[in-house]
Amino acid sequence: MQYTDGERYYSFPAYCRRTFGHKLYKVPLDAGMTCPNRDGTLGRRGCIFCDEGGSGDFALAYHGQQIRRDMLTGERYPEDLQGLCIGYFQAYTNTYAPVGKLAGLFRAALQEPLFAGISIATRPDCMPAEVMSLLRQLKQEYPDKFIWVELGLQSIHERSARWMRRGYELPVFDVCVRQLKELDIPVIVHVILGLPQETEADMLATISHLNRCGIAGVKLQLLHYLRGTDLGEMYLRGEVQPLSEEDYIRILGSCVAALDPGIVIHRLTGDGPGDLLLAPLWSRDKKHVLNRLRADLKERKITQGCRRLL
Ligand code: SF4
Repeated sequence: MQYTDGERYYSFPAYCRRTFGHKLYKVPLDAGMTCPNRDGTLGRRGCIFCDEGGSGDFALAYHGQQIRRDMLTGERYPEDLQGLCIGYFQAYTNTYAPVGKLAGLFRAALQEPLFAGISIATRPDCMPAEVMSLLRQLKQEYPDKFIWVELGLQSIHERSARWMRRGYELPVFDVCVRQLKELDIPVIVHVILGLPQETEADMLATISHLNRCGIAGVKLQLLHYLRGTDLGEMYLRGEVQPLSEEDYIRILGSCVAALDPGIVIHRLTGDGPGDLLLAPLWSRDKKHVLNRLRADLKERKITQGCRRLL
């Protein structure tokens, strides 16, 4: 089966056209949050791969102000953006703040004329009952806008979670996904491919778990080795090896084959800050990587879910 945009996987653009009738543009926001892995609650050095920007290096500083077209950079946005954007709370952990502050920020974004809805990137261990109640309430207040939650899982394997200093265990993720599903809030899960100690079978086990969780979307991200991170230091000392392009394309193809065909793939490569990237340098040319993936899927006759793992 091919999707409407001609891809062999369920891409985010295809999902947008099917659901909204047009493309949506992400506007990455930095709401000045922190993270329990950075503020000393769980640690101070962050996840092993995370740079100081908290995975939000291109994000717009956001404090609830109205967004003007000229504030947006980094993507080719059309002139009239009314209702065509997603307010993407990207940097750090966007539910890790007093619930009153979160309510103000999320309400402002849901009232923003540019935004069709918001997507909140966070950690499952930072979703207490009062945040769940807030999301329930906001869904009722803004029925014409959507609310998505993005969870940084990266891997289901506890060994990997400890290695990357993620700071929570898999059941915490599972409970959070169930609670969000009960609220009818779509969940998008971030997965990292190429963790040094993981085999292809390990990565496919993560995909299989996600198929069973009933999530709405996934972001498949190649592990980037960034300057200024502990992982970058390990790379410079020669202790870890990044994936080769060939291996990444093969593993990515296998993940697409294993992934439930109804799960939207929001990302297939990586979006690290180019100036900090130490390795793998081949990943800079995203167009080339995507073209190689397309060729590989065609050659191996893979479409999303053709070898769905449960
Ligand atoms: S990746 Fe996310 S959870 Fe980990 S240190 Fe960075 S901001 Fe915190």
